[in-house]
Amino acid sequence: MKEFDFFVIGGGSGGVRAARIAAGHGARVALAESSRIGGTCVIRGCVPKKLMVLASRYAPDFDVATGFGWTVGERRFDWQRLRSNVAAEVSRLEAAYTTGLSQAGVSILHDHASLEGPGVVRISGSGERIRARHILIATGARPTDADNLPGAELASNSDAFFEWPSQPARVLVQGAGYIALELGCLLQRLGSQVTLVMRGATVLRGFDNGLREHLQQALLDTGLAIMPGCTVTGLTRHADGSIQARLSDGSSATFDAVLRATGRQPNTRELNLERVGVTTSASGAIIVDEWSQTSVAGIYAVGDVTGRAMLTPAAVREGHALADALFGGRKVPIAHDLIPTAVFTTPEAATVGLGEEDAIARFGAVDVYEARFKPMKHAMSAQPERMLIKVIVDRLSDRVLGVHIVGLEAAEMIQLAGIALQMGATKAQFDTVLPVHPTAAEEIVTLRAPTRRHG
Ligand code: FAD
Ligand code: NDP
Repeated sequence: MKEFDFFVIGGGSGGVRAARIAAGHGARVALAESSRIGGTCVIRGCVPKKLMVLASRYAPDFDVATGFGWTVGERRFDWQRLRSNVAAEVSRLEAAYTTGLSQAGVSILHDHASLEGPGVVRISGSGERIRARHILIATGARPTDADNLPGAELASNSDAFFEWPSQPARVLVQGAGYIALELGCLLQRLGSQVTLVMRGATVLRGFDNGLREHLQQALLDTGLAIMPGCTVTGLTRHADGSIQARLSDGSSATFDAVLRATGRQPNTRELNLERVGVTTSASGAIIVDEWSQTSVAGIYAVGDVTGRAMLTPAAVREGHALADALFGGRKVPIAHDLIPTAVFTTPEAATVGLGEEDAIARFGAVDVYEARFKPMKHAMSAQPERMLIKVIVDRLSDRVLGVHIVGLEAAEMIQLAGIALQMGATKAQFDTVLPVHPTAAEEIVTLRAPTRRHG
């Protein structure tokens, strides 16, 4: 039996990082990947999504440009050209990740792997058994299995979205989370007519309510149709290939594509977890402690499969920290409570820390500072887009508990606000920073009086 110090199952964000860092510490490392090296983020997530978001932003920018004196000629968008350029960039990154692993000395197995027993992994294709002192499960997540919706097979999930051969003219999107909003918005900006049905009243449950309402209005202003309190009850294919969707309000309409984005579930199928005693939660996520240790000694899990924070930087940090702890003699805890995150709609929404409602529930006496304004980019355009910058402060300690932004470059701004919050910055410290003028970000340090005081 071949033997390694570290066997990684899954070559996505968490697995690749853990394998490379462990090998760098001198460990003998193998990694099994059943699909493409790079995982969800690189192959069918963050990277192709963000490239398509960037493509979609030219459309409103052409309109804005006229106010700045430009005459923009014929506009024509070529879905196939964008798709093949995105595919080429994804392949370039896949190759770079693969080279990075090989150069670090990691043995790559392009195959599905499962647990055979403590310290033993089974490679599905060859049936080979491999012994490893430490095993890491980094198998990510997949779109939630289709429920018993009649005609569910006619709908696409986000994996299928990236394979669409042509741009659909009319799209129905179900869901109001990250994926539904990002893909729905980019399609709308690229010229599709998008209808979004959501079971709740407002998009992005779990985010600050002010941010949610502001973003929802901004999305409506782009022409996106939103149907709150509504679900899809059935799908049927017409003879011309279009899809008839029946909705819970009794209405029905015809679309060229239906995209369902109703969450992702941990990828724990066919891993043999029960056989070796690795325990999972009710949602199917592998239960780990703060050091990514599962219920079985020598078996660890990082990334989406643990359901802690389904975000690439969390998977990467968890994988890195585990490799450092196992082979680098360095134990660094990971903060899961102050994760900056962004939703790449246009305009963007970004957030770090507590929303207003959660802050009130936990701290009681909370001051809310808010600025709503038209960004300079739109001063000479007909676009109704307004920015929201919101800072939540604990009145007792003056500590900033949360920052929430909707608007241009919100994602870029929240990264820096995240540093301040991680350092425990107070509102008074925010106020001592000189603004960079003229910017939108300067509002974060020039919010003088609270808009609302709670408690
Ligand atoms: P993954 O990257 O999913 O990697 C797991 C890998 O394991 C996969 O390659 C899979 O093929 C492989 N695998 C599974 N089972 C086995 C097995 N038994 N044997 C061998 N291999 C196996 N996050 C952000 O932070 N920012 C974003 O902008 C963002 N955009 C996203 C957009 C979309 C459309 C989606 C779907 C996700 C997005 N995410 C984003 C989330 C992000 O992609 C994930 O959080 C991240 O990829 C998780 O990394 P991971 O290593 O846990 O899993
Ligand atoms: P989310 O959890 O973000 O959103 C799921 C949406 O589906 C919610 O609006 C939810 O409604 C709705 N929903 C769930 N079940 C049903 C149902 N049975 N019927 C109708 N609606 C339903 O999941 P996503 O799939 O959008 O994304 C998965 C994860 O991937 C994200 O949570 C995030 O961690 C990650 N991601 C990160 C991105 C980024 O960082 N920019 C981008 C894309 C993904 P309700 O709110 O009512 O529960």
